[in-house]
Amino acid sequence: MPLHWHRRDLRPADNVGLAAAADAATDDAGTDAPDERADGDLLALFVLDDALLAHAGPPRVAFMLEALAELRGWYRDHGSDLLLAHGDPREVVPEVAVASDVDLVTWNRDYSKIARERDSAVRRELADREIDRASYDDAVCHAPGSILTSEGEHYSVFSYYWRKWAERDPGEPPAAPDADRLASPDRLAAVEAAKLRNLDDPIPGLDDLGVPEPTADVQPGTRADGLDRLHQFCDGPIYEYDDRRDDPAAAATSRLSPHLSFGTLGPREVHAAVEAAKADAPDDDARENSEEYRRQLCWREFYAQVLADNPDMPTTPLKDFQNPIEWRDDPEALQAWKDGKTGFPIVDAGMRQLREEAFMHNRLRMIVASFLTKDLLLDWREGLAWFRERLVDHDPANDAGGWQWAASVGVDAQPYFRVFNPVTQGERHDPDAEYIRRYVPELRDVEPDVIHDWSELSPTQRQRTAPAYPAPIVDHAERREEAIATFERARGDE
Ligand SMILES: Cc1cc2nc3c(=O)[nH]c(=O)nc-3n(C[C@H](O)[C@H](O)[C@H](O)COP(=O)(O)OP(=O)(O)OC[C@H]3O[C@@H](n4cnc5c(N)ncnc54)[C@H](O)[C@@H]3O)c2cc1C
Repeated sequence: MPLHWHRRDLRPADNVGLAAAADAATDDAGTDAPDERADGDLLALFVLDDALLAHAGPPRVAFMLEALAELRGWYRDHGSDLLLAHGDPREVVPEVAVASDVDLVTWNRDYSKIARERDSAVRRELADREIDRASYDDAVCHAPGSILTSEGEHYSVFSYYWRKWAERDPGEPPAAPDADRLASPDRLAAVEAAKLRNLDDPIPGLDDLGVPEPTADVQPGTRADGLDRLHQFCDGPIYEYDDRRDDPAAAATSRLSPHLSFGTLGPREVHAAVEAAKADAPDDDARENSEEYRRQLCWREFYAQVLADNPDMPTTPLKDFQNPIEWRDDPEALQAWKDGKTGFPIVDAGMRQLREEAFMHNRLRMIVASFLTKDLLLDWREGLAWFRERLVDHDPANDAGGWQWAASVGVDAQPYFRVFNPVTQGERHDPDAEYIRRYVPELRDVEPDVIHDWSELSPTQRQRTAPAYPAPIVDHAERREEAIATFERARGDE
């Protein structure tokens, strides 16, 4: 009798571990159960882990609770249930497994260090109790370690990884388990009768968990929303993806990242939808745009294999430097960056989108990360910590990968001497200042060319134009020189 432990795989379909558990489950062969009536023995469990909740900001907890409610709804619609427990999974998973008399526990692998340490501990506890356990690669189409260099190493250069990744077929997404494999009400009643200390009935609210309501307007955390976005995106916007993805005002990207991060969508089903859109593309241009989207999906898997190979990636630069980088200590500048009050309109618009939506457009993530690490010369880990708290789609591999890229300290990173100019970035990617004016109300009535020239205006001109908007907190040209010199010292170039 199997138990599937859901974690960042909050979906019934395209779920490798759950499908394996369903294969191991027995259905009640004697009955001719009508469809949608659970009469098997597959149990499903989710554990609310305080240690993880403490690190997840309110947007992510809100998204996750919504996803959990919907997943439980799916089990209930199929005559079964999702068991919900609260506590440390190292204790709770074995306890539930013993009390419910299962002989196999399945889960999908998570490549972060914290998750790997937790999973090893759970594995040991289950082994001590002579319960079988099996973990699966599910969060990516191609598991870390399945695509290696000719020297048998993980890739550290994206373009080479992409070449191999692109030609592989991830296979069909596994179907959701049939109802006749899911634990029947009798089986669930037996588990409930064990009166497990940790087994909760209702899905708690944010309040119950001591988590404040998010101040941001977080996108819905349901699989229904994810599938809707995926299909709408593949129905049209994907055909212009590459042409429009760097225009933040157009919001022409898929916004699937939180769904991929929490697993409300599976990577194989997303890939299959993209391949289908590509096959239906009206012309070569539309096909190339779709392929570019597929390439972005590959970045996610590239960073997953980098993290799997370098568990300390969220805290440790992957590039070697001869000397430590001399990051500044400037709490006021850090706060201005977090508040979107640096006096650089494009930077501030990005940081305010993050506050308002718990999301930020990719181009803006690159701009604000470059600004923090090069213009303010603040440690990239300060930026990562803020993103971890605020982003609904925070993912340890992508976030650390993105920050290490922008700070020029990671694999295949931006060269240290290529410092984004926040003024030209604004002019190029938001020429009409539509995105800036959407998020920075102080500049709503200001002409685009004046907005882009903000750092060139005199204090009197600024005061006259938009008195509530701050003056630039640094001189970009000076800071650019300083950043390059700082990196050269760290490299031992001088
Ligand atoms: C400093 C920094 C921090 C970032 N932090 C995160 C994070 O915590 N979580 C996260 O999912 N992405 C992160 N990214 C990558 C990227 O910005 C987001 O994936 C993207 O903006 C999400 O929006 P979307 O779903 O509309 O993307 P789309 O353009 O529609 O792309 C589709 C999917 O491809 C993947 N993807 C796209 N670009 C990247 C990329 N550069 N790296 C990895 N995966 C990518 C994502 O899963 C995304 O949902 C970060 C980038 C930077 C520069």
